[in-house]
Amino acid sequence: MKKRMLGKTGIKVSLLGLGGFHMLEISKNLVSKLVGIYLDHGGNYIETAAEYGDGESEKKISYALGNHRNEVVLVSKCHARDQEGAKKFVERTLKNLQTDHLDVLFLHHVTKREDVDALLKRSSALDYLFEAKKKGMIRAIGVSFHGLPDYALELLKAQDLDVAMTGFNYYDRFNFPSTFENFLPYARSKGMGIVGMKAVADGYLYRSVEDAFRYALSQDIDIMVAGANSEEMLLKDIAIVENFKPMSEKSMENLYFRAPELGNYVCRQCNKCLPCPEGIDIPKIFLYEGWYDRQMRDYKPHEAPDYALRERLAFWFGNQNEAVTAYKKLTKNVTNCTNCGLCEERCPYDLQIVDKLQLVHFKLGNGEIF
Ligand code: SF4
Ligand code: SF4
Repeated sequence: MKKRMLGKTGIKVSLLGLGGFHMLEISKNLVSKLVGIYLDHGGNYIETAAEYGDGESEKKISYALGNHRNEVVLVSKCHARDQEGAKKFVERTLKNLQTDHLDVLFLHHVTKREDVDALLKRSSALDYLFEAKKKGMIRAIGVSFHGLPDYALELLKAQDLDVAMTGFNYYDRFNFPSTFENFLPYARSKGMGIVGMKAVADGYLYRSVEDAFRYALSQDIDIMVAGANSEEMLLKDIAIVENFKPMSEKSMENLYFRAPELGNYVCRQCNKCLPCPEGIDIPKIFLYEGWYDRQMRDYKPHEAPDYALRERLAFWFGNQNEAVTAYKKLTKNVTNCTNCGLCEERCPYDLQIVDKLQLVHFKLGNGEIF
């Protein structure tokens, strides 16, 4: 398996990382088998979090690695925000993983204003991590998040960190475009390593796993982490990554047209519907819908598994307040629409814009569902 440098950390990582969340679902013997297969195929990055099963995933990984600890880049995450809490969790993680150092330690899910405020205070978790890095207990410090990148970006601007981890997939490309357009270039300008996750959007792109991995790995990232709970799933991921060829811009554009998950509901943020004669910023309104429920609730009939996934994932990232607040600040909204139909004639993806606007007004503006 190909390897890339993880930003300026000096750590070399395989293109596919093995994630530890799904290890909660399987026995430690199966975890050992999967880790063995992964290592045999040249994988070298294994990642977990203190929170996954309250340390259970870390313990299973330690069992599976046995005496192979030094062959892998071993990574965990800590969700504490204060100095004492971070000390407690990092010490516990080292014990669970039976190691004296972590190659990367992420500050886990920095997704809210409170997270950044707490991390930038005195005696925060970061103070402990910087100390632990000096002592050689941690080689690189990272930040991980999902959904809106704004708070993690604020942290990066205030502190020098080594690695960032977030989701990269062609579905959330249109719900959280600033991850691709602002966060990623800024992190790269600081020489940070980038770890991708959620290539299949928490399972939502299950029909299109190959396209999803190829798309994710074609972004400016160093590694894509994926979890697996079966041999079959892991071997499939490995095969895709081993045969990986970057997607051209043109292929990505094609994917935006043909992807069944995007269909004629998800706004591709292309701005081709503008200008609206009434001054309504249509793409922005749909962007806020992306923050709110990832444009998952389209009120169309769906097959049961698809419906279940949407219900599970719509509010997963918790950016509803930001969406509602931003929508309320707009000077022109759906109530200004005269139903002239111009925007729908211009939309290359055949979105029923007027109906979708009404739906968003219902979701974000306490409107009436028609
Ligand atoms: S239908 Fe409504 S949103 Fe579309 S261009 Fe006309 S006024 Fe603007
Ligand atoms: S043209 Fe369609 S896809 Fe493009 S921004 Fe407007 S509504 Fe979204």
